[in-house]
Amino acid sequence: MSQKKIELVCVHCHNRIPYDRPTPECPRCGESILRAEYDLDSLRHGNWAGRLPGHATSIWRYHELLPLHDTRHIVSMGEGGTPLIRAEQLGAMLGLKNLYLKDERQGPTFSFKDRQASVAISVMREMGVQEAVVASTGNVAMAYAAYAARAGIKLWVFLTSQVPGDKMREVALYGAEVIKVTGTYDEAKIVANRFARQKGLYEDRGIKSIAAVESMKTMAFELAEAFEGRAPDWFIQGVSGGMGPIGVIKGFEELKAIGAVDKIPAVGIVQSEGCAPMVTAWRAGQPIATPVENPTTVIATLSTGNPGRAYQLLYDVMTRYGGLAETASDEEAFNATRIVARTEGISVEPATAVMFAGLFKMARSGRIKPDDVVVANVSGHTFAVEKHILGDQWKRNLDVSQASGRINLPTEGILSALEQVRQDAHRVLIIEDNPDAARLVERVLRARGDYQVELAGDGAEGLRLARQNPPDLIITDIMMPNIDGFQVIEEIHHNEALREIPIIVLTAKELTAAERERLSGQISVWLQKGSSMDEDLLQGILSALN
Ligand SMILES: *Cc1c(COP(=O)(O)O)cnc(C)c1O
Ligand SMILES: [Zn+2]
Repeated sequence: MSQKKIELVCVHCHNRIPYDRPTPECPRCGESILRAEYDLDSLRHGNWAGRLPGHATSIWRYHELLPLHDTRHIVSMGEGGTPLIRAEQLGAMLGLKNLYLKDERQGPTFSFKDRQASVAISVMREMGVQEAVVASTGNVAMAYAAYAARAGIKLWVFLTSQVPGDKMREVALYGAEVIKVTGTYDEAKIVANRFARQKGLYEDRGIKSIAAVESMKTMAFELAEAFEGRAPDWFIQGVSGGMGPIGVIKGFEELKAIGAVDKIPAVGIVQSEGCAPMVTAWRAGQPIATPVENPTTVIATLSTGNPGRAYQLLYDVMTRYGGLAETASDEEAFNATRIVARTEGISVEPATAVMFAGLFKMARSGRIKPDDVVVANVSGHTFAVEKHILGDQWKRNLDVSQASGRINLPTEGILSALEQVRQDAHRVLIIEDNPDAARLVERVLRARGDYQVELAGDGAEGLRLARQNPPDLIITDIMMPNIDGFQVIEEIHHNEALREIPIIVLTAKELTAAERERLSGQISVWLQKGSSMDEDLLQGILSALN
């Protein structure tokens, strides 16, 4: 393979350095952030994008824009090329018509760090590195350890004690040396750096490592291909060091420069409430983040308290192309895990759940518009936290051992046993003439807990079902043909057997003063139907049932 023309450019003094050996800083001014630049002109004229269909399906499909000179040094396990999944249910719940999930769970170690590991370890191999050091909040460690094993590179991994034991064991399984640092992630990075210098070992420096940032571009390249040259309006990610969005946007910038994409997306970042230095700075309009000394989130992946220069780069990107920043509590994140799992069949790790919880807020507040094309970066698996999310009551036990000797199980017995275990579920009757709205409410309920839902398509049916088998709660629309919501509510109010049942009213429009007067004292809550009624609805239900 011919030598590619790649240069490193100092972001401070614009000094240009050839890219052929590990270069931790600008030899002229000492700046530690260098940017890789490629010969984009030749790609533009060579119709690079047009030739892609003939390339491999891993990230190495885009090798011309990756910082490796010789493809024989590639260490790959088919990373990248992940599915872009349209999230219709979740989108409907949030009022987003074009919500897509980039399913990075489907990589060798379940996160987008596989892209980073493949590029970083390949570059190490090309540069003759035999032993390396990395600090990690968990996912980098898993990915690097796996790829280093393939490349025969010895890896020293510094992890904080917050990283779940399951992840640490996997790192060790790949043969990496695991050093558990009792302290914050920022402290683990300092210890790793000192260790590397003392032993004279190559150190992967995250955002300051060329390979790491460059690898993230491949997500942009895949998105541009999937959307056929149009860029999404938003790229949303839970951030810790900020490398993901910075790399992804650099990818779009290069595509734009060679004419392969029409624009560059805006970036939405989400951080844990207990560790949100970048969100805090962004909200204050500041290009420099004040470090969080003692992160209080339990979500280790997102516990970078001091983002340093990375935030400045992110600030530039968000200022130039548009940005949103949100926080989410650990509790909100765990709730989001449940919602995403139950609406889309996708289980995500806590760092991704934080992203979703933030996305919910961005959509609900209208800062992301209903028609915007939104891509969310989805990683991880939930094994380590499922117990926490589900609590103790996640299964129903059904003992059929008594009957198992017989050939025909008595169906009646099983059914009535199921009836028994379902008895303490809350029974909710939804009276709603718009089937889409009814299904949405039903979905929200099912996603959020153990509710038994009955649907009635109009007022008359609703009343009939309520009389027949009084529910624990009624949710009713107001504007319905024939018997409308007002009549339903009055009828229930005058029925001795039903009058204690709490009622939640859903309306598409603001109620007039006269209408409110008519309902007062008869209903528990009224809610305006909207794009994102999930949280309000659930709150309404909980307060009505209590
Ligand atoms: C690494 C990681 C993050 C944080 O990524 P940065 O872009 O470096 O801030 C978020 N979520 C998951 C799942 C990760 O693995
Ligand atoms: Zn310089």
